[in-house]
Amino acid sequence: MVYIPSSSRYSNMEYRRCGNSGLKLPAMSLGLWHNFGHASDKTNSRNLITTAFDAGITHFDLANNYGPPPGSAETRFGKIVHTDLSGCRDELVISSKAGYNMWDGPYGEWGSRKYLISSLDQSLKRMNLDYVDIFYSHRPDPDTPLEETMGALDHIVRQGKALYVGISNYKPEEAEKAILILKELGTPCLIHQAKYSMFERWAEDGLLDLLEDKGLGCIAFSPLAQGLLTDKYLNGIPQDSRVATSGVFLKESNITEEVRVVIRQLNEVAQSRGQKLAHMTLAWLLKDERITSVLIGASRPEQITDSLLALGNTAFSEEELALINSILK
Ligand code: NDP
Repeated sequence: MVYIPSSSRYSNMEYRRCGNSGLKLPAMSLGLWHNFGHASDKTNSRNLITTAFDAGITHFDLANNYGPPPGSAETRFGKIVHTDLSGCRDELVISSKAGYNMWDGPYGEWGSRKYLISSLDQSLKRMNLDYVDIFYSHRPDPDTPLEETMGALDHIVRQGKALYVGISNYKPEEAEKAILILKELGTPCLIHQAKYSMFERWAEDGLLDLLEDKGLGCIAFSPLAQGLLTDKYLNGIPQDSRVATSGVFLKESNITEEVRVVIRQLNEVAQSRGQKLAHMTLAWLLKDERITSVLIGASRPEQITDSLLALGNTAFSEEELALINSILK
């Protein structure tokens, strides 16, 4: 069936300015780490994208290695862009990254100029695109001079293969150096993609302050802690859950009784706010204006529709915040 984007797609989404840049991102973005590889259901992948786009989610996040197999998420996404979303390229913010292991040999991972430039060329070919909107160094490389990695990002922008660049998984001190180098090169760093959720709060130790100070945006990845911070695992492990179906990055052993006790308590706080735990979890991140966007994953389109309800109430009382902090201690 031919997909026609909803004419009301921009009515309900909030768009936040990414740092001091001219680019606005939707408060909620969709990541394609899971559910877009060759083995996953094609119709479901397509419905995830169209459901998101219809709701005003304009930003789709990929990386060279998303699949499995690595690269297949970009291939599938590219096909969807050229069929269902053809004519909408200028309404999309598409990102990709390079940094983790992608191909054999010494040039297939980390942060050399050789790897980053050839990896982006491969990504563009897989997606059949001329450019990505944001290209990231996916992780810092301890063995490559930061000047080389940032120089490669600058070069990519000058080549027109990316409109903006970002960094991911850089600690505050690494990020500060990278931001400075890019500034000196004349290609400002747009954004930092950091793992951030109620269960993963390292960004609060200096990173968010730094990004605010330097005028960068922050996009929080795995905001639902891969599904842990929802009501999904309260009473067991559903057969269709990430733990049961892939279980590589989120395992049954992560769901200890101690974790369940915390999730149950958080679930009660969410209920007292009239929200589901997934909504409170996302709202808790979005209460901070320094968070440009929360980067969710979804295995079914209904999860996107459900997660969007978080945008309805992102305000917290001091008492609620204190209670959440005491539960997380
Ligand atoms: P989340 O923490 O949002 O977890 C997504 C999972 O949560 C879904 O697959 C689903 O699990 C469950 N879920 C989603 N919505 C709901 C809901 N409303 N109710 C109940 N359960 C729900 O994010 P991800 O870990 O998937 O990461 C998101 C994106 O972040 C990635 O796609 C990628 O773009 C980016 N990322 C970046 C990294 C980096 O190094 N820069 C590393 C990792 C991710 P289920 O499958 O069980 O249904």
